[in-house]
Amino acid sequence: MKDFFETIKSFPDIVRKTTRIYKNSWINSKSGFLGYTFFALIIAFVPYIRNWAQGNIINAFEVSVTDISQIYFDAGLFILAIILPSVLSIFSNFASKKSYFKDGAFYENKIIEKSLQINPQLHEDKYFTNLLNKVNEKGVFVLNNFKLDSFNIILDLLIIIVTSITLLHFSTMAFLVILITSLPTLLVNIEYGQSHWFIWGNDVDTEKRKKFWIYRSYVDAFSSYVELFLTKSGKYFSLFRSKFLDETFEKQKNNEFKLMSRGFLAGLVNWSGIIFVVVYFIRQVISGDLLVGSFVFIISLITGYTLTLTSFFKHLSMVYPDYKYISNFFEFLDFKNSIESNGTKKLSNTAPVIEFKNVYFKYPDATKHVLEDFSLKIEAGDKLAVIGLNGAGKTTFVKLLCRFYDATEGEILFNGINIKEYDLESWYEILGVLFQEYGKYEIPINELVALGRYDGEINDKKIKEALKLSEAEFVKKLPNKEKTQLGKQFTDGVDVSVGQWQKLAIARMFYRDPAVMVLDEPTSSIDAEAEMKIFETLEKFSKQKTVIMISHRFSTVRNADKICVINEGRVYEHGTHEELLALNGEYARLFNLQAEGYK
Ligand code: ADP
Repeated sequence: MKDFFETIKSFPDIVRKTTRIYKNSWINSKSGFLGYTFFALIIAFVPYIRNWAQGNIINAFEVSVTDISQIYFDAGLFILAIILPSVLSIFSNFASKKSYFKDGAFYENKIIEKSLQINPQLHEDKYFTNLLNKVNEKGVFVLNNFKLDSFNIILDLLIIIVTSITLLHFSTMAFLVILITSLPTLLVNIEYGQSHWFIWGNDVDTEKRKKFWIYRSYVDAFSSYVELFLTKSGKYFSLFRSKFLDETFEKQKNNEFKLMSRGFLAGLVNWSGIIFVVVYFIRQVISGDLLVGSFVFIISLITGYTLTLTSFFKHLSMVYPDYKYISNFFEFLDFKNSIESNGTKKLSNTAPVIEFKNVYFKYPDATKHVLEDFSLKIEAGDKLAVIGLNGAGKTTFVKLLCRFYDATEGEILFNGINIKEYDLESWYEILGVLFQEYGKYEIPINELVALGRYDGEINDKKIKEALKLSEAEFVKKLPNKEKTQLGKQFTDGVDVSVGQWQKLAIARMFYRDPAVMVLDEPTSSIDAEAEMKIFETLEKFSKQKTVIMISHRFSTVRNADKICVINEGRVYEHGTHEELLALNGEYARLFNLQAEGYK
C-alpha cells in the first residue's frame, strides 16, 4: 500500500512533468504535435462509431425498415470506420515520427548544453554524478515513451468516460457494476508502477548501478583491457556484473509474480462483473426490453471498455517508472550551478597580481582542511614553480585559482579585488590551464591544437608555431602532417604515445597564448631533452605573462623565477632556488634527494 500512496502523491508532479514535455514538443514541432493528437483522437474513437453504426443497422433490420437512407448512412459510417484507422495511422505515424525526431534532437542538445555549463566542481559531487550517469545511461528516448504513454492514458480515459456515459444511458446498475469491479485491477496496477524495470528500479542500489556501467567501460577501454586480458582478472568485473543482474532480476521476478497473482485475483472480480452485466442485458433482450442491435452495441462497448481499461493499466504501469527517470532528467537540466558567477568586474587582457590571503579550504563533505592558512602572492609576469609531495594540495590550489570551488575562509584576490567580484568569463578568457588529466580528443591534430582558443577558425601559422614550441616535431612525420586524424578507430587515424599526447596538449596551451598559464605536471611523460626545451621556452615567455607550473623535476623547477613549496596544505617555503637552498629546509632536502639519485 505504501507504493500505492507514493504513486498517488506524485500525481501533481506527474502532471507538471507531462505538461512540460508537451509544451516542449509543441514548441519543437507544432504540426507534428497537432497532427499526432488529431489523428490519434480520431483513431481512438473510430471503434465506438463503428459499433454504434453496427447496432443501428441491426436495429433497423429488426424493426421494419422505414428509412432506407438512414441505413445507408449508418452502413457508410460503418465502412468508413473500418477503413479510416489504417489510412489515418499512416499520417499519424508520420506526425509522431516528426515530433519524435525533433524532440530527440532538442533534448540531446539540452543535455550537451547543460553539461558544458556546469561548474567542474559538480563532477566531483556524488549526487550530481549519479544524476548525470542516469541521464547518460537511459538517454532521451524515455521522454518520447513517456509522452506517448501519458498521451495514451489521456486517450484511454476519454474513451472510458464516453463509454461510461453511454453505458449509463442504458443502465446505471450495469455502469456501477463495471466501474466497481474494475477498481481492484486499477489498484494493483498503480502499485505495480513502483516496481523496477531491468536495473533502473527505485530500490536498486545507485552505487552498484554506477559500478555496473563503469566496470563495463573497463572491459571496453583498451588501456585497461590489455591488463585484464593478460592477467585474466576480468572475472572480477564480470562476476560483479552478473551477481548484480541476478539480484536485480530476482527482485523483479518476485514483483512480476506479485503482479500476476494479484492481477489474476483482481481480474476475477472484474470478469464476474462483466458476466453479470452481459447476463443482465441478455435477459432484457429475451424479455423484449432491449433491441438486438442495442444489445450488440452494448456488448461491443463492454468489450471496448475492458480492452481500453487493459491498455490504460498497461500505460499507467509504464508511465510511473519513466516518470521517475524524467524527474531525474529535468532535475539535471534545472540543476543550479554550485558556483554562480555574479561578479561584474572584468579583467583586462594582461595578467593580474594574484594573491591567496590566509585561505582555508575544505572539500564539501570533508572533515579536514586541504589548504590551511595558505598565503601566496604571484606578481604579474612571475614564472612560478610549485612543488610538494603527493596530496600536499597543489591541484586543489589550482582548482581554487580557477574558481571551481570557493575558499572556505580567507580571500583570493586579483589586483587586490576578491575573485568573487569578477565576471568569471573575463578571467577564463586570459587563463590557460593544463591539468594532469587533460583531454585526449581523437580529432585531427590541427583542430585539436586550435581547441586552445576555439572560434571556429584554424590559424595554420599559429598551429605550426605552437607545435614547434611544444617540441611536437613528430607531427611532421605523420602521413597527413598537421591534418592527421588521431585515434586508430577512425579512417587513416593514428595512435600517438602518452608523451606525444602531452606535447599536443602543451601545443594547445601555446596556441591559446593566455596571460596566465597554469601547467600541472605537463611534462611527466616527455623525454628529458624535449622537456628542458619546453621549459626554456616557458621561462623565456613574454615578460608580462604569468606562468605557474607544478612539477616534480628539479632540473626544470630550479630555473623558475620563484619556487613555492606546498606542504600539508600550507605555503611552506617561497623564494628563488638559491634562497631556498640556503634556507636548507624542505626544498633543499627534496632537491638533494633527487640530485643524489642522478649521481
Ligand atoms: P596534490 O595535487 O598536491 O597531489 P591534491 O590537491 O590533488 O594534491 O589533493 C590534496 C588532498 O585533497 C588529498 O588528500 C586528496 O585526497 C584531497 N582531495 C582531492 N580532491 C578531492 C575531492 N574532490 N574531494 C575530497 N577530497 C579531495
